[in-house]
Amino acid sequence: MHGKVLVIDPIATNRIVLRVKLAASHYNMIQAGSIADAMQVLAQSVPDLILCAATMPDGDPLRLLGRIRKMGLAGKVPIIALSCGESDSERLRLLAGGIDDVLQKPINDALLLARTRSIIRAYATASEWTLREGTSRALGFGEAATAFSPEQTVRIIADDGAAAEPWITALSDRLSARIVFAKPSAAVADVEPGRTPDAFVLVVGPDEGPEMLQLLATVRSQANTRHCAILTVLDADYTTLGAQMLDMGANDLMRSTRSSEELALRLEALLSRKMVTDSLRDTVRSGIEAAVIDPLTGLHNRRYAMPHLSRISERATRTGKPYAVMVADMDHFKRINDTLGHAAGDAVLIETGRRLRENLRAVDLVARIGGEEFLIVLPGVGLGNARKAAKRLCQIIQGTPFEVPEQATPVNATISIGMTVVDPVNGTHSTKSQTPEALLDRADKALYGAKAKGRNCVTLSRPAA
Ligand code: GH3
Ligand code: MG
Ligand code: MG
Repeated sequence: MHGKVLVIDPIATNRIVLRVKLAASHYNMIQAGSIADAMQVLAQSVPDLILCAATMPDGDPLRLLGRIRKMGLAGKVPIIALSCGESDSERLRLLAGGIDDVLQKPINDALLLARTRSIIRAYATASEWTLREGTSRALGFGEAATAFSPEQTVRIIADDGAAAEPWITALSDRLSARIVFAKPSAAVADVEPGRTPDAFVLVVGPDEGPEMLQLLATVRSQANTRHCAILTVLDADYTTLGAQMLDMGANDLMRSTRSSEELALRLEALLSRKMVTDSLRDTVRSGIEAAVIDPLTGLHNRRYAMPHLSRISERATRTGKPYAVMVADMDHFKRINDTLGHAAGDAVLIETGRRLRENLRAVDLVARIGGEEFLIVLPGVGLGNARKAAKRLCQIIQGTPFEVPEQATPVNATISIGMTVVDPVNGTHSTKSQTPEALLDRADKALYGAKAKGRNCVTLSRPAA
């Protein structure tokens, strides 16, 4: 079963018709004849969607929504009202009150099912992010997102700019979002980095179906636009094309003959839902980031470095390519702290991290794995080049004294590096000795050697037996 749908309709025949349609698409239907009945059903189990008649014996869809809110299910179960030709103002009243959609009877089967799928998907996504955000916070990874809400942008996409003009004017008056216009060819192409719109309104003229479907697929697949809300406005071929649009990822659908007030209401609902999911997603992302990033230097930490090293070593075993593992440790770092203070020590650590990162390739791993210790992994690098790279790193630390706060004269600092190289082809190490812990241990032992030799130098571990 794809999901559970609660149908509320006083007329038994209507419920039977819907049951057949839903069952054909593998939805499990539960039913109620009134809001009171529905409340009893909801107390037992929460459906994925509610389809309700526009008029029920004990109230309308907004009354139902009110009761659902009281149960603490607000925002958790979508409601679609099935109308028998109520007036435009009645439909607007329901949408403004928070009903997710109002579908006019007779309802085309394909469209009903596509709408059902799209709305269940949207709510499932929101609930997934809520869950993940909760987990992140429970793990202590993330703070609840702040209430800061930047101005949202809506892009109206139409081939005929003149036809879109009235929509643009009306939306600019009604919404607090910024409304901009683009032709389909420029819809995604000229989106500037960091200025991704929050919603696209695709105004589909007659014969523009294929082009707009293509555009929809592009918006949904591109990394920078895939979380954007999409609302399609069309009239020609409304049911078939509309159903296709919904199945390809459009979030909402409206006839172009409807009022700009309705468009504004629908957009408002999409934008507010997007703001919530964006903020949940940001919390999860920044929480995860915080868990693997060292706050002082901005480098990865040990928690990230160890599994990453393990993956590098697995891949090297598969591809037969060598890799080098180094531990770089600041020399006599305690003295810097003792003579110049902890803040000066911090400044040296930050700058050391920056120099190491800047002097290595993007594919190389640089992580802060201890107070003044860094792990460096160079994938695809054999002994000769690894030794050169390590010497170069010593040089870039020793070569330029460090500026530190409240010190007129820059401070000298050096690092020592212990290194081990795994070369599956020119073979020195067995697979057994390639766990991250074993590699780190060998690099660490080599580091003692470098310290014993007088510091500011590189020492290689002796190959394992
Ligand atoms: P060696 O050359 O043998 O490595 O000597 P060392 O002084 O660098 O080594 P030791 O392990 O004795 O001292 C490391 C010092 O690093 C001690 C500790 O206070 C300092 N340290 C560790 N983390 C931080 C940090 O985040 N900031 C600052 N300022 N100092 C730190
Ligand atoms: Mg040290
Ligand atoms: Mg140390």
